[in-house]
Amino acid sequence: MFFKVGFVIGLFCTSNFIFTQGEINVAKKYASKIDSIKIREYVSILASDSLEGRDTSTEGQKKAAAYIQKKFREFGLDSLSTGYLQQFLLYKKNKSAILYFNKLKLNFPEDFGFYGFYDSDFIAENDVDNSLIKVVAWDKFKKDKFYLNNQVNSLIITINSYLEVDFNLIKSRKIKNVFFICKFYNESYFTKYTDGELTFSTKADSKNPQRLFFINRKKLKEKKVLNSIQVKINPLDEVLSENLIAYVEGSDSLLKKEFLVISAHYDHLGIKNGEIYNGADDNGSGTSALIELARIFQEAKMNNENPKRSILFICFTGEEHGLFGSEYYSQHPLISLKNTVADFNIDMIGRKDSEKEKSQFSVYIIGSDKINYQFHKKHEEIAKINSNLRLDYKYNDFNDKEKLYYRSDHYNFAKNGIPSIFYFGGFHADYHQPTDDIEKLNFTKIKAISELVFFTAWGFAL
Ligand SMILES: [Zn+2]
Repeated sequence: MFFKVGFVIGLFCTSNFIFTQGEINVAKKYASKIDSIKIREYVSILASDSLEGRDTSTEGQKKAAAYIQKKFREFGLDSLSTGYLQQFLLYKKNKSAILYFNKLKLNFPEDFGFYGFYDSDFIAENDVDNSLIKVVAWDKFKKDKFYLNNQVNSLIITINSYLEVDFNLIKSRKIKNVFFICKFYNESYFTKYTDGELTFSTKADSKNPQRLFFINRKKLKEKKVLNSIQVKINPLDEVLSENLIAYVEGSDSLLKKEFLVISAHYDHLGIKNGEIYNGADDNGSGTSALIELARIFQEAKMNNENPKRSILFICFTGEEHGLFGSEYYSQHPLISLKNTVADFNIDMIGRKDSEKEKSQFSVYIIGSDKINYQFHKKHEEIAKINSNLRLDYKYNDFNDKEKLYYRSDHYNFAKNGIPSIFYFGGFHADYHQPTDDIEKLNFTKIKAISELVFFTAWGFAL
């Protein structure tokens, strides 16, 4: 695969053994403080109806953020920003878009549609240079190398249908605005991109932004040269959302510069068709485990018994829409990624798998061996010494049909070469349903997995 070798091989190789007996005793003392009653209390707030399913950028998500913020403050955790917040822009798709073609007003989606390689390119910019517009037929355009080498502001291309367009070819040409005049226009190709979904801007990374418009030829009254185009298009509303980031500084003056991340997404699916998706398991469970671990690491610090390295606690937003919070964080880290030595990500750890877990709880471990094998071995060793959980690697395969390796926030660390583990409790019938409620959670299992994450983070931070 394309992963870089971890930056911190030294961390995983130098210590052959993880804990001395004294260290085990201290770690155990704090692990025993993990309190399932407190975890239940956090979940009962996060998964309550008043938080309305915590959909990214909604009031409910902001309430959840305020609650996590309150907890971090109450425990006395340190912040790297104002109020533990990392706020960033997201874009919500809407249907308001107007295009003027030779002063003829065209409406979306019946008269025209649009598409882009980078969604953010659609943001209202009336930057069509009308003096330079040319019209060319698709067959001619395909062979014309001019557009490969020269930056062109706008071009009109006549086509039969959307399906005829070779998008890779278009992408390789340096044209900012492409207006396809379609003989056969089908609005259903375009409406599916504007259903209120959230999208994350990659504008900063796009070197060759292009905007593509598809215009229904039947709506154009004048068939002669089209020389006046005005775009009034703002199909994306800007919204704000926020990650919450707190840390417990390590006890060693040098090693405290190295950070281990414990992460969990706190957003969920919101309200659909009047039903609240409370997301008690997904991911009230993981967020609550994180809050509890933050409390305990901070307590150890207050007693000057915390490990040498620092622990960073991140609650991500935007996960359910496409890992947006962790993607943003990985592009704008508050601690340099070079000093970020591992990520332990907790997502859905609250449900008992009745088939497999008759006598012993298990946890799915995903990604531990992908970046650095020593990291994986060390994790196994820590688990063996400190946990009764059965580690299940069923989903730990790039090619597994569920593709879980790519489906939670650890992935945005892993793709940057940072050794990562995704702790997952298993699927169930209430997954992404309005019935994912607190009554169905197993707090003994949540506690057991929280303890494993605790010992792991502690062991790696020593
Ligand atoms: Zn989910």
